Amino acid sequence: MHPELAADLDQLPALLEEARQRAVGFLGGLDERPVIPPQSKSPTTAAPTSAAPTTPAPTAPAPLPEDGGGLRAALAEFGERWEPRLSASAGPRYFGFVTGGATPAALVGDWLTATADQNSNSSLDPTGQHLERETVDWLRELFGLSVAHSGTFVSGATMSNTVGLAIAREWLGERLGVDVAEDGVAALGRVRVLSGSAHSSIAKALSVLGLGRTALTTVPTLPGREAVDLAALERALAEADGPCIVVANAGTVNTVDFDDLRAIAELRDRYGCWLHVDAAFGAFAALSPLHAGLVAGLDLADSVCVDLHKWLNVPYDSAVQFTRRRDLQARVFQNAAAYLGPIGDHPDLVHLTPENSHRLRALAAWFTLRAYGRAGHREIVERCVAGAEALGAAIDATDGLRLLAPVRLNVVCFTLAEDPTPERLAALADRISDQAFLTPTRYAGLPALRAAFSNWRTTAADVRRTADALAAALPAVKAD
Ligand SMILES: *Cc1c(COP(=O)(O)O)cnc(C)c1O
Repeated sequence: MHPELAADLDQLPALLEEARQRAVGFLGGLDERPVIPPQSKSPTTAAPTSAAPTTPAPTAPAPLPEDGGGLRAALAEFGERWEPRLSASAGPRYFGFVTGGATPAALVGDWLTATADQNSNSSLDPTGQHLERETVDWLRELFGLSVAHSGTFVSGATMSNTVGLAIAREWLGERLGVDVAEDGVAALGRVRVLSGSAHSSIAKALSVLGLGRTALTTVPTLPGREAVDLAALERALAEADGPCIVVANAGTVNTVDFDDLRAIAELRDRYGCWLHVDAAFGAFAALSPLHAGLVAGLDLADSVCVDLHKWLNVPYDSAVQFTRRRDLQARVFQNAAAYLGPIGDHPDLVHLTPENSHRLRALAAWFTLRAYGRAGHREIVERCVAGAEALGAAIDATDGLRLLAPVRLNVVCFTLAEDPTPERLAALADRISDQAFLTPTRYAGLPALRAAFSNWRTTAADVRRTADALAAALPAVKAD
C-alpha cells in the first residue's frame, strides 16, 4: 500500500473526526457566511494584464499532484482554497432556482451512503434494493399515489423527466405497433409533445431521447396564468394525427401554477395520449391539507417526476420517477447480461433507469423520512409556504417593488415598479447577495426576480432580513 494511504488508514478515526469538525464549522457558519461569497475573477474572464508576473487566482486550476501528502494536506487545501468560496446554498436564504438543504437526518444518511459505498442495482446483493423499495413506498404514500405506481430513484428531476418520457416513447410505439427500444425512434415518425408551460428540462429530455426539441408544442395557457388552457389542449389533441404525449405541469418555476390534472386525465382517457406530470417540487403540495387540492389527480398520471434534492431536503443529487407501466420501463432500460441473471417479473434496478451502477441514493431520503415522518416534512412545507407568503406581502408593501403574480405556494416572483431592466434587477440581486440569493427570470413580458422557498432552515427572521435587504438596496438601484 502506498505509504500515504497506509498512514491515512492507520489514522482513520482521527481523520474522520477532523472532517466532522470541519463539517460542524461549516454548518455553524451557514447563517452568517455571505450567501454568495465575492468571487475572485477567474483567469479566463480577467482583463488582459501586462507581462508582469501575477499570482494565479485561488480557483485557477492547479496541477495534478505527484505526491499528495495524504488526507490532512487535502483537507487543509480545501479549507483554504475552496471552502471559503462555497455559497451558503445549504442555508436559509439561498432562494435561487428551487434549492433545498439537507436535514440533519438526510445529511447523516448521505454520509453513511458514502461510508457503506453500496452499488444497489441487483438482487445478487439485494439489501440496497430492498431499502430503495421501502423508501419508494413511503414517497408514493407521501404524494398520494396508489400502488399502481412503481418508482425508482434517479439523480434529479431532469433525469426523472427523461425516464418518464422514455417510457412514454415506448408507449407510443406500443400504440403504433412498433418497438422503439428494438428498432429505434425513427420507427415512430413525428411525435408531438403538448404542454402549457414546460420546464426547460423537457426540451432537453426530448433532445436526448431522439424525439427532438421541436417535438414540444406549446399549448396556450389561461389568461394571466401559467396553467394550460384546457379547451386549447383539447383542440390540439383533437387535431393531432396520431397518439401524443401530454406533459402536465404541477408547479411552474416562475409562479408555481398548476395544470388541472384531473381534467387533463379525462382528456387523456378520451383522446388516448400519455400523461406525464412534472411535479418536481409541486408534488410537495400534497403534504399540506390547505394546498393538496393543487395536485388532485396526480395519481391518474402515467408517469410522474418528483425532485427530492429540492423540497425533501436531501443532499444533491436525488429524485424519484414514478410510472404505471414498469413493463415498458424495463423494455427501454433492460441491461441483459449473463452475469446479472434473468430479468423476471420484478426487474432489478439495473433494468429500470439509464444508470447501471449507482450509489445507495435512497438512504438519505430513508433517513429523513424515518427521522421526521410525514408530520415533520409537512411542517417544512407549510413553513416554506408561510415564508413565501410573508415575503410576498412585504414586497407588495414596498414602494418601488411590484409582485408579478400571487404567491400560490413557495415562490415569489416580482420586479421593479419602475424601469425594470435586466441590468437594474441584476444590480438589485447583486446588492443583497451577501444576505440572500435570488435568481433572474422573465415573466409576463418583464424581466423579474424569483425567490423560491424550499430550505428546512428558513424562518420568519430570514424573511424579514431579506425584505429589509431589498428595501435598503432600492435607493442605490434607482440612482444607478
Ligand atoms: C428543478 C426542476 C426540474 C429539473 O430538476 P433538476 O433536479 O435540476 O434536474 C424540472 N422541472 C421542474 C418543474 C423543476 O422545478
